[in-house]
Amino acid sequence: MVRHNCSTPRKNTTCSVRVPPRTPYLAFLLAVRYSAQMIVAPTIDPEKCARDLQLELWDRQCSLWPGELVTPLDVCDPWVAAHYLDFTVKEGQLSSPTMRAGRELGGFINRIGGVIAVSEQLSPRSKRFTLAHEVGHVVMHPGIHHHREIAMDGMTEPYEPADPKERQANHFAGCFLVPAKQLRRAFNAAFGVESLKLTDDVAFELLGANFTSLMNSAYDSPAFSRVVARAPRFRGRHFQPLHDLFQVSVTTMAIRLRQTGLVRSVG
Ligand SMILES: [Zn+2]
Repeated sequence: MVRHNCSTPRKNTTCSVRVPPRTPYLAFLLAVRYSAQMIVAPTIDPEKCARDLQLELWDRQCSLWPGELVTPLDVCDPWVAAHYLDFTVKEGQLSSPTMRAGRELGGFINRIGGVIAVSEQLSPRSKRFTLAHEVGHVVMHPGIHHHREIAMDGMTEPYEPADPKERQANHFAGCFLVPAKQLRRAFNAAFGVESLKLTDDVAFELLGANFTSLMNSAYDSPAFSRVVARAPRFRGRHFQPLHDLFQVSVTTMAIRLRQTGLVRSVG
């Protein structure tokens, strides 16, 4: 992959991500500044925020990965992002007195202490998503200081939280872990096409004799994108399933495949 030359920084790079300060006075100034931004520009673009952060990580690869050969997928590491944003990531058994029965505390942010905690009970991929989600809050929602998450089956299942900030953080996490540019590149290399539309032929390539189950799935069902997300072969090509390549759940990959238009069930 490309080796970044640290002596020649990329031109015209504007960094919209800033490392949060630790002193109360500077924290206050930052809160005022972001509050003003929220009034002027209330719409946050989670995908742009994720991309801006990754550009910063790429530009600072010499200090973040000293002496290592860095690839574009390395900047999809939420542990590196948390470290860059001056947060310590701690894993442990999390509990909360307000936790409802049958639910699990996935993670929380303590901005003042500079800590993001992630439950050790989550699967490795759910930890990645949870941490990326919390990094999204750090970048997009500076007003949140002590913030807790309740994760059910990880937060990778396709639930839509009522709180728009939660939806934005989920969207950020998906974009951070599976950047559109890298996904398109991997998709094209694996499937040999620009995009896939569900047809009898494509369904047969993916599922063989079971292809009718896909063709009979509900209108605009996510079933097709889920099959593509975990497919190990297509038209004689063998490859690493996309959800494994990006170390995310099948659900997260299926969502990104639809968001990027690489997979279309209908239309
Ligand atoms: Zn959240």
